[in-house]
Amino acid sequence: MPGDPRFLSPVDLHTHSSVSDGTEAPADLVRSARRAGVNTVALTDHDSTAGWADAAGAAREVGVTLVPGMELSTRYGWKSVHVLGYLFDPDDQQLVAETARIRQARRTRAEAMVARLAVDYDLTWEDVLAQTTPGSTVGRPHIADALVRRGHVDSRSDAFETLLHPRGGYYEPLYAPTPLDGVRLIRAAGGVPVLAHPATRGRDRVVQEDYLDRLVDAGLFGLEIDHRENTEDGKAYLRELADRHGLVLTGSSDYHGEGKPNRLGENTTPVEALQRIIEHATGSEPVYA
Ligand code: AMP
Ligand code: ZN
Ligand code: FE
Ligand code: FE
Repeated sequence: MPGDPRFLSPVDLHTHSSVSDGTEAPADLVRSARRAGVNTVALTDHDSTAGWADAAGAAREVGVTLVPGMELSTRYGWKSVHVLGYLFDPDDQQLVAETARIRQARRTRAEAMVARLAVDYDLTWEDVLAQTTPGSTVGRPHIADALVRRGHVDSRSDAFETLLHPRGGYYEPLYAPTPLDGVRLIRAAGGVPVLAHPATRGRDRVVQEDYLDRLVDAGLFGLEIDHRENTEDGKAYLRELADRHGLVLTGSSDYHGEGKPNRLGENTTPVEALQRIIEHATGSEPVYA
């Protein structure tokens, strides 16, 4: 039976393909999920749904349930806040327009960072483009890959800790809507918004509780608690918040292929939480194995 809970678990609700800054094509990512024993996977590329169709094809082929989604870039003051959206209508005009705007801003911003880096390092915009697939969402990970390729740093992580760090001297902030507008956009498109890794180091209590109240009023549905970058103290706080506001708690790998050490299925979401998300969504449906 489609959606039979016995076949859904384990559930990994946050992954990236080469449509953004992961290293595997969407179909390959779904095949990797199969091999890793993950039975339900959400594809959540940054600010793009371009991988949905290929991921769906592979999901049918190999018998994995696919939850189509996205990780929307938002900004709260100087803080970058990621909002996961699940099962929204990918043709919703406002969401399509806003994600196109963010992707364009990401490109302009990456070009600005590369121009700054090029003063001190042998690096061109073409080097960065060579690390992306056509039409993909450009991000600092692609600049990192180009820097690795040129031998300026050893790894993506090394690049993030040095040259690409906000205080590294070459950083440029990214235009993005507020988290509140992000949540509203996803809801208006029939989707289910979940705050991504809200308790990472240095991002503890990413949003103050009065602002969280407003996000919940606007339709925020869950908090991603089981994520390798959330601190233990932060997780305890998230659990309290979820209790107080009636939010679901999710877990995921935030897999980026070879771009990060995160492994598929290293953190998972309870089937009951997934079912609540599916029941709440009106924009699109999972592709059931
Ligand atoms: P951007 O959205 O362009 O500012 O870049 C942020 C992205 O880089 C996030 O999606 C992270 O997954 C990725 N990222 C952040 N830190 C690291 C790191 N240390 N190693 C690899 N990827 C990272
Ligand atoms: Zn990423
Ligand atoms: Fe994120
Ligand atoms: Fe992510």
